[in-house]
Amino acid sequence: MSPRSILVRGGHVVDPANGRDDLADVLVRDGMVAEVGPSLSAPVGADVFDATGLVVAPGLIDVHVHLREPGFEAKETIATGTAAAAAGGFTTICCMPNTRPALDSVEVLEDLKARVRRDGRVRVHPVAAITKGREGREAVDFAALAAAGAVGFSDDGDTTADSAIMRRALEASRDLNRPVMVHCEDKALAVGAMHEGGVSERLGIPGIPAEAEEIIVARDLMLARLTRGWLHVCHVSTGRGIDLVRRAKADGVRVTAEVMPHHLAMSDGWVVGERTLLNVDEPAGTPAPAGDPDTKVNPPLRTPEDTWLLLAALQEGIFDVVATDHAPHASPEKQGSPYDRAAFGLSGLEFALPLMLALVRAGHLSLTDVVRRLSLEPARLLRVPLGDLAPGRTADLVAFDPEERWVVTPERLQTKSANTPLLGMELRGRAKLTLVGGEERHRE
Ligand SMILES: [Zn+2]
Repeated sequence: MSPRSILVRGGHVVDPANGRDDLADVLVRDGMVAEVGPSLSAPVGADVFDATGLVVAPGLIDVHVHLREPGFEAKETIATGTAAAAAGGFTTICCMPNTRPALDSVEVLEDLKARVRRDGRVRVHPVAAITKGREGREAVDFAALAAAGAVGFSDDGDTTADSAIMRRALEASRDLNRPVMVHCEDKALAVGAMHEGGVSERLGIPGIPAEAEEIIVARDLMLARLTRGWLHVCHVSTGRGIDLVRRAKADGVRVTAEVMPHHLAMSDGWVVGERTLLNVDEPAGTPAPAGDPDTKVNPPLRTPEDTWLLLAALQEGIFDVVATDHAPHASPEKQGSPYDRAAFGLSGLEFALPLMLALVRAGHLSLTDVVRRLSLEPARLLRVPLGDLAPGRTADLVAFDPEERWVVTPERLQTKSANTPLLGMELRGRAKLTLVGGEERHRE
């Protein structure tokens, strides 16, 4: 049981919703933020958490997570995935519908919500499928799923190839005011296993051209314009892809977009074995053998130039949110498979904060920028009153040490699947306290 009051004392409070970026105490009472200010006194019986040297921010919100339950519990469960979220400083996540069964009916959604009530350590909002079984043939009942709690719609993992169904989904997004969250990939072009370019040629690994993504981004932006629907472009990985989004925004198309830390900090050089984070000034990791399946992700790690263009778009505000695409896979599907047959996906929830903090140390972003893209803007996208530490708000909060060094090992992680090329590397930045509705969900 958490105490009814917690005083988080002496931290550097970063709260862009309220323009706060200074030393302050945060008093949490009965699950709400009661007061924020200097030198608050602790009520009788309150737990006092010493946040000296830590940053205190509204809890992080990840709009793109694969929890794997129901159906793929060997990779991750709601219990382990939400524990990983809390350890990464996240207090709210959205789970993608590529489970078995897929999240395509009210019945499946209700079952998921019951599992979350039982096992969830953080808030979980479901994203429902666009098509039944995610098969791309028949649209779901958008209105019923929205009424049952779906915060958006996605066939993530696959593109909805049928443009008429995508048109209907976008019309529903307009009427229901919920985004269609699209995985943009022309399947006929995207038959490879890594980014198509000089590196894939050198390694002899079949490539996925940037155009496979950009063609569908362009189509979906056109359909968003046609329908006046709300398009959310997931995991944009190419400079030209985000340029299309930039132009559509300027033209008044209702489009939001997300970028993943791994697409900002890693390139296809990592597939050859490089272990130096891009665009930052961190020490390099030990080079790895070429073709490590833990570098295989969809969309793939692109060129160093793409990472730079994505970062510039994030600085410019073209990317609304940073999300992780946390995609756990059990070891046989990764290390046990050759590169071209290994599963796509990286573990992400426990690395987003340290990777974004590396960009802060390198001078590319401010702490306020990071909290805005990882908390305030995701809350706006989900239309939930979170991402904000004003008195009277729900006490979803993280206190993190921006400097603490830790080495990535499976034992240090809460996720069930440590499929990340960061294994063995030293990162800086750790969540020390995560509160969800004033209740402690992670503390170390
Ligand atoms: Zn995807």
